[in-house]
Amino acid sequence: APSETPYPYEAPASQALFDRASAVTPGGVNSPVRAFRAVGGTPRFMVSGRGPYLTDADGREYVDLVCSWGPMILGHAHPEVVAAVQDAVARGTSFGTPGEGEVALAEEIVARIEPVEQVRLVSSGTEATMSAIRLARGFTGRSKVIKFAGCYHGHVDALLAAAGSGVATFALPDTPGVTGAQASDTIVLPYNDLEAVQEAFHRHPGEIACVITEASPGNMGVVPPAPGFNQGLRDACHKNGALYISDEVMTGFRTSRAGWYGVDGVKPDLMTFGKVMGGGFPAAAFGGRADVMAYLAPAGPVYQAGTLSGNPVATAAGIAQLRLLDEAAYGTVDAVSAQIQALVTEALSKEGVAHRVQNASNMFSVFFADRRVRDYEDAKRQESYRFTAFFHSMLSNGVYLPPSSFESWFVSTAHDERAVQKIADALPAAARAAA
Ligand code: PLP
Repeated sequence: APSETPYPYEAPASQALFDRASAVTPGGVNSPVRAFRAVGGTPRFMVSGRGPYLTDADGREYVDLVCSWGPMILGHAHPEVVAAVQDAVARGTSFGTPGEGEVALAEEIVARIEPVEQVRLVSSGTEATMSAIRLARGFTGRSKVIKFAGCYHGHVDALLAAAGSGVATFALPDTPGVTGAQASDTIVLPYNDLEAVQEAFHRHPGEIACVITEASPGNMGVVPPAPGFNQGLRDACHKNGALYISDEVMTGFRTSRAGWYGVDGVKPDLMTFGKVMGGGFPAAAFGGRADVMAYLAPAGPVYQAGTLSGNPVATAAGIAQLRLLDEAAYGTVDAVSAQIQALVTEALSKEGVAHRVQNASNMFSVFFADRRVRDYEDAKRQESYRFTAFFHSMLSNGVYLPPSSFESWFVSTAHDERAVQKIADALPAAARAAA
């Protein structure tokens, strides 16, 4: 029952809101992983955010290491983003016509990410991956899709198989509501296993439309591709007439100025984006090769649309955020991330707790495991009960971590010395709790 919490600290205002929410919303939340199902206790209802801090309904301040699951790379309520949004709102919030903001945002994406010659704006990462898959099927005239266990690409029916984070958190192998027919064209393979990919192409000649992969997975915790894995995927796709789709919803504009593409340089046919590019608003995109994108309506036959696609307020926020993200900003985020990773390692090592901090540039997560995590099976073998103890200790000392051990932690340019000190102060007790 939502009113019972086994944890020794109180959050009465959040609890009251959670009780109200649970009466009118399934599980009391609008996206499953916001609930504290994996770790137990009362989810914190936040009322405001500023820089690296969130304040909850009980007036408690937390250093935020979730950053809205990635988007808030400049911290909360960055003054220049807020000003851009205020300016856009005052000029009207949606027109249902083309507008300059969406052109500018598309130009910014195309300028930063060389494989993206054309881009279509949508409102969520789910829409981006769903549409990219439809386009790949339309372009190739083939049906099957390869995805990897532990990779999450949004709640697209065909992709909700072995989908990591939220699904892993609830230990559901799949989800009811996705029909056998919808899932039957999805081939799920172990991550970081090129042989399995080659074998699948061999077993299904001329049937595979695309391989979709997280550019560097963050939804089974952070599990970077082994050297050569992404290149091997691209080569296998091209040898077999399939498209290589790199899902950069999480890594895009976060792991470097050009996302994970900027790190490994493997050129996808199609890419998907979300999170950072919306500046905290619902804006996402898919794009890539011009000859493939030309298949999209109204230029081509593959249908895709959206009432709020390219929304002027969302695009204003996205442009403002992206323009502030120069090389120096990424340097700041990378440095503070490395600092926090080192502090976590130090605290856990001091208590002798077996763990692995794994990172993909400034994205990182902490596995309570005694060896490196290379795939979803490894990720599921971590000692999640240690994470639960660690999480609640950090929370009670004012540090907000993702409430699941299958998630990346995120930092921002706003995580300054004071914020890092607060994390450092909270870590020793959390490490003892995890021991
Ligand atoms: N793809 C990846 C890699 C993601 O991490 C996510 C969300 O976490 C999505 C797609 C879906 O994006 P959205 O939640 O905006 O639908």
